[in-house]
Amino acid sequence: MWTVSSYVIRQKLAGRKQYPLVLMLEPLFRCNLACAGCGKIQYPAHILKKDLTPEECFRAVDECGAPMVSIPGGEPLMHSQIGEIIEGLVARKKYIYLCTNALLLKEKLHLFKPSKYLTFSVHLDGQREEHDLAVCREGGYDIAVDAVKEALKRGFRVTTNTTLFDGANPKSVRAFFDEMMDLGVEGMMLSPGYSYDKAPDQKHFLGRARTRRMFRAILSNRKKNWQFNLSPLFLEFLMGKRTYPCTPWGMPTYNVFGWQKPCYLLQDGYAETFAELLATTEWQNYGTESGNPACANCMVHSGYEASAVNATFSSLGGFLATVKATLSTSYRDDEALRLLEEPPAPVHPLVQIATPNESLQETRA
Ligand code: SF4
Repeated sequence: MWTVSSYVIRQKLAGRKQYPLVLMLEPLFRCNLACAGCGKIQYPAHILKKDLTPEECFRAVDECGAPMVSIPGGEPLMHSQIGEIIEGLVARKKYIYLCTNALLLKEKLHLFKPSKYLTFSVHLDGQREEHDLAVCREGGYDIAVDAVKEALKRGFRVTTNTTLFDGANPKSVRAFFDEMMDLGVEGMMLSPGYSYDKAPDQKHFLGRARTRRMFRAILSNRKKNWQFNLSPLFLEFLMGKRTYPCTPWGMPTYNVFGWQKPCYLLQDGYAETFAELLATTEWQNYGTESGNPACANCMVHSGYEASAVNATFSSLGGFLATVKATLSTSYRDDEALRLLEEPPAPVHPLVQIATPNESLQETRA
């Protein structure tokens, strides 16, 4: 928190309006899962074979300057030099979130040393049944939980990251939070799914109104021991208590194509350098307010969490709201309790569905 706070304050004092908070570094697109809601593994084989070299990763990290580096993919543990990449980033004192489905984690733990800079961010999309359905792999939950236990036993930092799609059962998600806290993970990260046009299952992405309703049910009447690895104001944004403009430069993406315009989710071209990305992206064309249909339903953390962090440091009101949200964490809400009693929507089956042209727009409200 101190690293992020001092970094943001330095950016503010320097008068920078667009600054990166987390670099999304994708060293490869290959994966050992084929999740219905993921758009990354649909690339042709010659792209899936490509890896960023450690030197390319270090150059991007140095150029960007963000204090945190998130390593999604693809499955980063399938990169043959992932140990070297992590070692180089730890040496640079970057806070690293290595995002993994954990299928390979147990057998690859020997590649890493426990460090305050390294956190395994394990992809778990809910309790056993929900997670296995989301990742289209029976037994995936048990393998991941087993790996989490082993990583914790060996002294590594571990958090979870959870993507929630339409049909998620808020009661089950809350029970999942209890399970993760009992397991001993440090914190949990949440995000609504984004409607990737490459994802095979296009039916289960959430519109903004449904996103807010679902997160209100899940995150109100919070238990004291739940720890989230997210800005408290971003959680309030998900619950519909705040609105923010998208700040996609806050979490820029670098991958085998270069610096991706404008964000982790859309691909409107690439830049060769981070400076070129900032200078040549037409930022006004993105975010919900822009009217861009690709952004209409988006509330994902890679677009809006940096906005929430920026709001914390932009005014005394933002700072006090963050302090209040951090200290008074229960969010008592009787209507949210009622929402929990609504019958859950049927869960989608364990198949990949190809309906690429179906309209997803629900509301831009
Ligand atoms: S609103 Fe979402 S899709 Fe659009 S630029 Fe922001 S993060 Fe990307």
